[in-house]
Amino acid sequence: MSTQRTAVVTGAARGIGKAIALRFAHDGHKVAVVDLDEAACQGTVDEITAAGGQAIAVGADVSDEEQVAAAFERIAAELGAPTILVNNAGIIRDNMLFKMTTDDWDAVMGVHLRGAFLMTKACQAFMTQEKYGRIVNLSSTSALGNRGQANYSAAKAGMQGLTKTLAIELGKFGVTANAIAPGFIQTEMTASTAERLGVPFDDFIKYSAEQIPVQRVGQPEDIAATAAFLCSEEAGFVSGQVIYVAGGPKD
Ligand code: NAD
Repeated sequence: MSTQRTAVVTGAARGIGKAIALRFAHDGHKVAVVDLDEAACQGTVDEITAAGGQAIAVGADVSDEEQVAAAFERIAAELGAPTILVNNAGIIRDNMLFKMTTDDWDAVMGVHLRGAFLMTKACQAFMTQEKYGRIVNLSSTSALGNRGQANYSAAKAGMQGLTKTLAIELGKFGVTANAIAPGFIQTEMTASTAERLGVPFDDFIKYSAEQIPVQRVGQPEDIAATAAFLCSEEAGFVSGQVIYVAGGPKD
């Protein structure tokens, strides 16, 4: 087995973040399961510990600087210096531009961009000290533009620029940074999109699958497998990349 690391996964109470946390634990890492509500993280932690792994539940809003600082203090004390970070926490506040409120704009920027900035700034202190780090940021195919998502597509494009800059600045410390840009992944986030559109989720999945070259929608485990590779020791020469995990090519 490769060296056991301490991994931090945000938004890991459910969906893609939960799958990534489970996969990291399966790969032998200690995992800090971070989400808004500490109690909501417990399900992920219980699954990891039941399978013989080590994890802690950490309640923190990634867009709050003080909560981020407190989270890292606890993680380092309880699990050791974190050298894997996945900025996965996310929200959508979709609307056509003419109806989008400033609050909808700020909320999405706050979680994705300010959140990734604060988490990464706090975590790089440990990574540079350890001369090792793996950062994965969740972008999206929406970064290429998507109707009703001016805020989200701007944030997800921003994640790509952030990733490339992290790769350039932190490479000399043994730290890589990459982005995963998923297409349609079956989670509560896409379920809420179907609800907003007034379409049953099953029909939304079926219609979406027909548009995807591999003829299925993605599952959280598809993203977890990609994150596991990008966060492995053997991926040390892969940095500053955006990997579209969408069942087909994207521009
Ligand atoms: P989800 O809504 O199921 O889970 C997101 C998690 O993030 C939730 O548990 C939520 O509580 C948490 N979260 C939200 N705001 C937070 C904050 N301020 N601090 C800490 N935690 C917070 O979503 P998902 O589908 O699992 O998506 C995970 C990531 O993948 C997101 O960044 C999303 O934008 C991205 N993504 C998802 C899809 C998809 O099709 N599902 C596609 C592309 C990108």
